[in-house]
Amino acid sequence: MTGNDVRDVIIIGGGPAGYTAALYAARANMKPLIIEGFQWGGQLMITSDVENYPGYLEGVLGPEMMQEFRAQAERFGAEYLTEDVTEVDFSSAPLRVMVGNDEYAARTIIVATGATARQLGLESEVQLQGKGVSYCAVCDAAFFREKEVVVVGGGDTAMEEAAFLTKFASKVTLVHRRDQFRASPIMVDRVRANDKVEFVLDSVIAEVEGLEEGRVTGVSAENVHDASRTTIPADGVFVAIGHDPTTTLFQGILDMDETGYLKPRPGSTETNIAGVFAAGDVQDHVYRQAVTAAGSGCMAALDAERFLTELEAAEKGEFVA
Ligand code: NAP
Repeated sequence: MTGNDVRDVIIIGGGPAGYTAALYAARANMKPLIIEGFQWGGQLMITSDVENYPGYLEGVLGPEMMQEFRAQAERFGAEYLTEDVTEVDFSSAPLRVMVGNDEYAARTIIVATGATARQLGLESEVQLQGKGVSYCAVCDAAFFREKEVVVVGGGDTAMEEAAFLTKFASKVTLVHRRDQFRASPIMVDRVRANDKVEFVLDSVIAEVEGLEEGRVTGVSAENVHDASRTTIPADGVFVAIGHDPTTTLFQGILDMDETGYLKPRPGSTETNIAGVFAAGDVQDHVYRQAVTAAGSGCMAALDAERFLTELEAAEKGEFVA
C-alpha cells in the first residue's frame, strides 16, 4: 500500500457502518482503504451477546460479529490500516487523510468514526463490561428477565432505558448524581409513576460489584453529601450518561450539530463537502444500532459510487441524468 495513489474511497472508522461501506465499495471495485482505528470494531467490542442483528439465528458475540464484518469486506479486496487518523484536509481535491507523517488521498471519503458511550471511569465497570455492565438497554434488556437492574443517569436516555427495562426486569433502580433531572419532566413523571422503578438520588456509583463472581452482583452507591455507601443488589448495570461522537478531527470542516454529531443532508449521507459522506453513529444520536449503522454504511458507499460516476462523466464531458 502506498500513500501516493489517489484512491476511489477511503473509509475512516471500523465499526458496522465502516465495514458495511467497505463491503459495498469493495464489491463495486472501488478498492477501499479502511483506516479502521487502533481500537477497531467500535461499540460492539464491549458487547457480549448480540441477539438483534438479523441473520444470526442463535445470536453472536459482538467482537466475533465485527471480525466477520471485517473479513467479509476483505474477501472482496478491502484493505485495512489499523491506525488512527491524525488529521484531514478536505480543502481541495483530492481529499487528504493523514496518519502521523503518512498521507493518503482519495476522491471520496466515508466518515464512519462512530460515537462512544460515556463510561463512569471505574476499573470494576471495565472489568464487568459484557458481564452485566451494558450501555444499551434496547440491545441487552432481554437478558435481564425477572432480574434486578440499575440504570445510571438523569437525562432522557436514562429515563427511556429505565422505562424500557421495566418490561423485562423485576426491579429497576435509577441512580443519579443530583436531585434534579436533565431529562424532560414528562419522561421523569412517566418513570416515577412506574411501580417497578426506585430512584436513588444525589448518589454516584463508587463500585460495580461482582469482580470475584465474574458477573455483576450489584453496585455500591455513594451519597454525594455524606459519602455514605449503600449496596444495591443487581444483575445488570445500564450506564446511560450520554454519548460522544468521534468528530474532533472534523471540527470547523464538516457541519455538525451543537453536540458534535455530523449533519449530513437529510435523507442522504452527503456532508457539506463534495465527496465526503457520513455513516453510522457519528451522524445518528437517535437509533444507534448496529443494523442502522450498517444500513447507513451501505447508503454512504452507494452515494460515493454515484458521486464517482458523475465525477468521471464530468471529466469526460459526458452528462449523467
Ligand atoms: P444527557 O442529556 O447529556 O444526560 C446525561 C446524564 O448523565 C445527566 O443526567 C448527567 O448528570 C449524567 N452524567 C453525565 N456524566 C456522568 C458521570 N460521570 N457520572 C454520573 N452521571 C453522569 O445525555 P442523554 O440522556 O444521553 O441525552 C442526550 C440527548 O438526546 C439529549 O438532548 C436528550 O434530550 C436526547 N434524547 C431524547 C430522547 C427522547 O426525546 N425520547 C431520548 C434519549 C435522548 P447531570 O445532569 O448532573 O449533568
